[in-house]
Amino acid sequence: MTIDTTRRGFLGIGAAAASGLLLRASDAGAAPAKDKPCVVVWSEGTAPKNVYPEDINGAIVEGLKKDLAGWEVVKAGIDDPEQGLPDDLLAKCDVLIWWGHKKHGNVKNELVDKIEKRVKEEGMGFIALHSSHFAKPNKALMGTACSWGGYLGDSKTCKVTVADAKHPIAEGVKEFEIPNSERYNDPYAIPKPDSVVFEGTFTLNNGQTSSSKQGFTFTVGKGKFFYFQPGHETNPVFMDENVKKIMANAVKWAAPGK
Ligand code: ZN
Repeated sequence: MTIDTTRRGFLGIGAAAASGLLLRASDAGAAPAKDKPCVVVWSEGTAPKNVYPEDINGAIVEGLKKDLAGWEVVKAGIDDPEQGLPDDLLAKCDVLIWWGHKKHGNVKNELVDKIEKRVKEEGMGFIALHSSHFAKPNKALMGTACSWGGYLGDSKTCKVTVADAKHPIAEGVKEFEIPNSERYNDPYAIPKPDSVVFEGTFTLNNGQTSSSKQGFTFTVGKGKFFYFQPGHETNPVFMDENVKKIMANAVKWAAPGK
């Protein structure tokens, strides 16, 4: 079977050359290389300017630049035309990063349907951050309530530890501590994850500690999905070098065909 196919392909090239089509193939070879892989970083523009002057998408875009040479990194937001994701951009997007909190209800269902289709049927990667657990695309892809056990504003720091050291998202990441004034408590109402990549231990204002899971991966249809709990808008975690590394690792991991 393989030999037959190869022979047909070889004969096909011969036929193309005979009919002059090989010239066109040569022209195509001189054309610009295949488009760069594309990551779109989306947020809703509600983070305080004193913490995130360029909003959360701007901070993440800045953080991705170092590790994603060769990628097209696009900043998009709910106030942009087509809520930041016109069809042509969504069609070429390999990985979509999503941060939302106060405007989940404003996101059009039609757009959510398109995102769900891109992930499930076409393998676009999806990364949901922090309060995006209740974002429409997150809930559509998980198919569960996506509620946490509790939402508490009683912490000072979160020590993030690597729970799955072999996972590509953890590559080069060691235990680290980030400012964290808001935490979510286990359990998280989601399907069984493929991996829990990160765990976290919070130091509370009263000096005690509390733990909950921080990073999960899933396979959703043809797409790869990563959820990361840190990222409250008053915490500058997306400027942290470790979190930048995690974001870049997650984009590379979630890209289709890898
Ligand atoms: Zn929050």
